[in-house]
Amino acid sequence: MELTLDLLKDKLKVWDGCDLAKQSNPVLGEGNPNADIVFIGEAPGKREDELGRPFVGPAGKFLDELLASIGLKREDIYITNIVKYRPPGNRDPEPAEKTACLPWVKLELALIKPKIIATLGKHALNEFFPKLSISHVHGKPQKITENLCVFPIYHPAAALHNGGLREALFADFKALDDFLNS
Ligand code: URA
Repeated sequence: MELTLDLLKDKLKVWDGCDLAKQSNPVLGEGNPNADIVFIGEAPGKREDELGRPFVGPAGKFLDELLASIGLKREDIYITNIVKYRPPGNRDPEPAEKTACLPWVKLELALIKPKIIATLGKHALNEFFPKLSISHVHGKPQKITENLCVFPIYHPAAALHNGGLREALFADFKALDDFLNS
């Protein structure tokens, strides 16, 4: 049987390979299966856990604003997370949780084959480039192959706690737009 994103979602529902699955609901990515850009966040929050959809809470609302600032809509992109379940109390995901969930994001990427992986925050960036610091490389594309790069961006939720990061996030999206048009 051919693997599709819908099938992947069904398979995730019955998977029990991550301890977080005992207490929270699976949240796979969603969006355009033919997208050139895949955004990858950290892990679902409360609202995402309730609805089983990524980025539908306050960070998601801000993400929509950032996307709109460069003329993009959710339908244009695909969005997912490194960890597929909400960590209790929204704590940082643990290394074992990230490792356990990594095959799912790899499969999503293999099916979508994007040109740009826009990582949101340090957890997603460090899965691809463990030694890079988000504060140094945000807004600067990191080449993987001729046809694929990681574009690091601060996490939208960070600006909800630290108003100073709002401008940096709009600047990162402007840099992404410039890169798309270059
Ligand atoms: N933060 C994330 O990293 N992912 C979500 O889906 C929501 C908030």
